[in-house]
Amino acid sequence: MSNQDDKYSQYVDHPRYGRGPRLTGLNPDPFAVDVLLHWHSTNSLEIAQRFEILTGQKWPHDKTLDFGIDCKRIPNTAIAADLTLQSRATVPVTHYFDVERVCRGCRRPFIFFGEEQRCWYEELGLPIESDCVRCMPCREHKRNISSNQQRYEELFHNRSRTADESLEMVACCLSLIEFSVFSPKQLHRARSVLNQLPGDAGESTIARAQELLDRIRSIEQK
Ligand SMILES: [Zn+2]
Repeated sequence: MSNQDDKYSQYVDHPRYGRGPRLTGLNPDPFAVDVLLHWHSTNSLEIAQRFEILTGQKWPHDKTLDFGIDCKRIPNTAIAADLTLQSRATVPVTHYFDVERVCRGCRRPFIFFGEEQRCWYEELGLPIESDCVRCMPCREHKRNISSNQQRYEELFHNRSRTADESLEMVACCLSLIEFSVFSPKQLHRARSVLNQLPGDAGESTIARAQELLDRIRSIEQK
């Protein structure tokens, strides 16, 4: 195993693109007139240098000024962008590079892949200014939390919930406790919803309620 492979084996795995860079052999010159890189794929010094090469004028600011851009562009991983598919931007991007990032959630290193950027900016229609600051598992976790929160709110305010919907609300509540969004104090609420189920509830409803009670007990034991 090379040092490079070993390095990337520590990176967060992306279910679609893997852990390590995807080499394409394309490595456009960031100073070329027809090359425009995303701000997360370049850095302050390159921006200043590019300005001087293209305009023939001196960069009017301090060159060592840090714009807060921590560029970790991986050479030879570029793919060409289709500008007609990008959402309208003051400065478009002509090439997407794999870039190394550190996740804002779990602090582990991951790669924001060029292919993924193409998907974001050309297929999903995300604005070109948007950036990826969390690894895939952290993004999924965040999405999971917000869908549970949203569903919980909907069911909580629904005064004519069915028994099955009440069980779904309890399940969301327990997930939110497990995610540390809700306080464990909410467990007694979950329990009281289960205790208020109608006596004539069907077998499958009773079985689901039992599963939720078991889940409550296992959370209480932690
Ligand atoms: Zn993460």
